[in-house]
Parts: sequence; structure tokens; C-alpha cells
Amino acid sequence: MKCKNCKNEFTPVRFNQKFCFDTDCVRVWVESEKEKQWKKKKKVLKDELQTIQELTKLAQVVFNKYIRLRDKDKPCVSCGSKLGSKFDAGHYFSSGGHKSVTFDEDNVHGQCVTCNQHKHGNLLNYQIGIQKRIGEDRLLKINQKAHETRKFTREELKEIIEIYKQKIKTL
Ligand SMILES: [Zn+2]
Ligand SMILES: [Zn+2]
Repeated sequence: MKCKNCKNEFTPVRFNQKFCFDTDCVRVWVESEKEKQWKKKKKVLKDELQTIQELTKLAQVVFNKYIRLRDKDKPCVSCGSKLGSKFDAGHYFSSGGHKSVTFDEDNVHGQCVTCNQHKHGNLLNYQIGIQKRIGEDRLLKINQKAHETRKFTREELKEIIEIYKQKIKTL
């Protein structure tokens, strides 16, 4: 076996040993192991981050699907027009800035594509519509909740996904 560092022949005593026991070579060996460990750790951290982002996306897909099924026979929450085969789950408090109510059923209602995508949520009329639909008290509650800071853990996101998968089945 040839040492990866000094290129001298040596007899390995461990499986897959790539360095000889020369002081310099051992030092290089230790460094390369550290590097490997760090790369592994970085990958795990990255995976965990991605998983939260991926789980959030998936939770949104499942939750929005539930909202669209729940509201399929209702009119658009903002303009009152009949919802066709293609409509959106429109957030009253946007999901970007108000994480705490992203998955709150009171905050999300069936909305026509025109209102949701072309009129930026048609918020003025949304306010009137949502008040009619859930009432003053519940509107006040989401108003409060919307301005709390909220971070979802992976476990919580997994739970939301499971809950709404089940809810979709029962509709
Ligand atoms: Zn060596
Ligand atoms: Zn509309």
C-alpha cells in the first residue's frame, strides 16, 4: 500500500488505511478525517433546513387542497362570484408575512383567480366577505394571531400534513 501523503510503501493495520504512521502523514490523515466529518455535518444541517422548507411547501399544498374542497360550493369570498373548476385558496393575512395563520382555516377561503391573482387578494372586499363568513369574533381572533411570531418545527409540519390528509378523506 502506498501512503497518500508521502507516497512511501507501508503495511496497513486498519481496513482502508490510506496514510502511513509517519508523524506528518498522521497529521494529514487527522485533518482529512476532520474535513470529512465537517462535510457530513454540513450535509445533515443542509438536509434538515431543506426538509423544513419542503415540509412547509407540502403542508401548504395539502392544506390548500383541503380549503378548496371545503369551499368548492361557496362563492368567491371577495367578489361573491361563482367559483369555477379552477380557483384558489386565498389567504386573508398573506402566508409570507403571517406564518402563524398560514394553516388557520379561518384565514383561508376559496377565492376566484381574478381576485386572488389579479387583484392581489381583493383585500377590501375580502374583509367584508370574511366577516360575513366567520363573524366578528373569529375575525378578531385571527387578527390577533396573525401578528404573533410563529415558527413551525418539522414535527409540527408533519402533523399538519397528516391532519389535513385525513380531513380531505372525510370530505
Ligand atoms: Zn506517509
Ligand atoms: Zn372573486
